[in-house]
Amino acid sequence: MHELGLLTSVVAAVTRAAERAGATAVDTVALRVGTLSGAVPEALLGSWPLASAGTVVEGAALVIESVPAAVWCGACSAEREVDAFFALVCPVCGTPTGRLLRGREFEVAWVDLTTPEPG
Ligand SMILES: [Zn+2]
Repeated sequence: MHELGLLTSVVAAVTRAAERAGATAVDTVALRVGTLSGAVPEALLGSWPLASAGTVVEGAALVIESVPAAVWCGACSAEREVDAFFALVCPVCGTPTGRLLRGREFEVAWVDLTTPEPG
């Protein structure tokens, strides 16, 4: 369960952000996850309740924004979205490329916090 370890780091980061903001609860955590990041969205969602249990993040919804992997193909002079299994080959002309532009992201995209009403 490599996803649980990833989420534990996310929960720690969001907890610090919530404390800094004086938030009483976290409503939603959105992650940006590349298709080549090695993290499986279904596994992330499945591990979320366990990773967030007992923290201010517990009960928050987890939203995953998938980032399709893309490479730059010099032969086509174009950016090409690629399937994770054929990441280093242009899907249009078949030219191998090592220039991965996107797809390894694993980061917090945004967080929706509940803060006490002023007054
Ligand atoms: Zn190409």
